[in-house]
Amino acid sequence: MSKYWSPQVHDLTPYVPGEQPREQLIKLNTNENPYPPAPAVEQVLREFNASDLRRYPDPSSTSLRESLATTFNVTLGEVFVGNGSDEVLALAFQAFFRQNKPLLLPEISYSFYPVYCRMYGIASQSVPLTDDWQVDLEAFGNDNGGIIFANPNAPTGHGHGRKAIAALLERNPHSVVLVDEAYVDFGGESAVPLIHQYPNLVVTGTFSKSRSLAGIRLGYAVASRELIEGLERIKDSFNSYPIDRLAEQIGIAALSDPSYFDECRTRVITTREQTRDRMAALGFEILPSQTNFVLAKHLTHDAGELFIGLREHGILVRHFNTDALRDYLRISIGTDAEMDSLIEALECLCR
Ligand SMILES: *Cc1c(COP(=O)(O)O)cnc(C)c1O
Repeated sequence: MSKYWSPQVHDLTPYVPGEQPREQLIKLNTNENPYPPAPAVEQVLREFNASDLRRYPDPSSTSLRESLATTFNVTLGEVFVGNGSDEVLALAFQAFFRQNKPLLLPEISYSFYPVYCRMYGIASQSVPLTDDWQVDLEAFGNDNGGIIFANPNAPTGHGHGRKAIAALLERNPHSVVLVDEAYVDFGGESAVPLIHQYPNLVVTGTFSKSRSLAGIRLGYAVASRELIEGLERIKDSFNSYPIDRLAEQIGIAALSDPSYFDECRTRVITTREQTRDRMAALGFEILPSQTNFVLAKHLTHDAGELFIGLREHGILVRHFNTDALRDYLRISIGTDAEMDSLIEALECLCR
């Protein structure tokens, strides 16, 4: 606390990101991709001309947005990019959710959403999940200042299909619905094709997970021109150049190789299903997942103790110390070899 801070700073409750350890650990705690980015990314790095960094980047990142527009079969004006999807989300909260009515969000979802609510003074109402831990789309009433959820949801792993999202949009035409698709490439169904039908839909995504680029910080939003203009107004009132020259080239390279992309995500999906079976055999209850992580609870062993035990075996996973999630571990899907080490350690710990 400091008397020099603006008064609001005292009331913030910042997001706590998963640890980036300095020692060598098998890192299964922040849902990064275990495979390197597309080979074209390495080529960009080899050929990048350092002298170009003298110049500011393109403030509207037109080339990267063109690549995304082609990838998603939308127009340039329907794409927005930011320094990680966290930044895109922050700008979206500012652009759409500072309303007189509360923002609706699932009781268990990405824990950054309540952080943005506090930062922007946005009232929120959390909606319980269904009994089997799905986002309860039916329970989102239509008297709200906006709706946000991750689909597939984090850290629960379940995703709704496009039809269910369309039905929600039919019921809720008067406020913005933001669908955070950070994990969609691991088995979800994207809502992007719905943006032409529903001018109040924003779909966000990231290069951090399925494109193996958490370190470069690139995220995007796809929405009607009307909503993208709102985001652009906020962005240009905050930072004209969120995407640097190198990041823009790297993003374009990552999008240029769909077969490499498919190969990586298929591998992650295959490893995920094998991991689920192997963990189930060790006495874990594991939620079905359409993401690159599993949420698992052991029937007899305490999750907090397993977290510590795994760390002693050199394996870092995520344990959330909240009432709802205390009994669970969230485990990112690594390479097959990393998951072998995980299973070996669990065999030891769950005896
Ligand atoms: C990882 C994640 C993000 C943030 O992604 P960045 O692009 O790395 O900022 C956003 N939403 C959800 C649900 C995530 O899990």
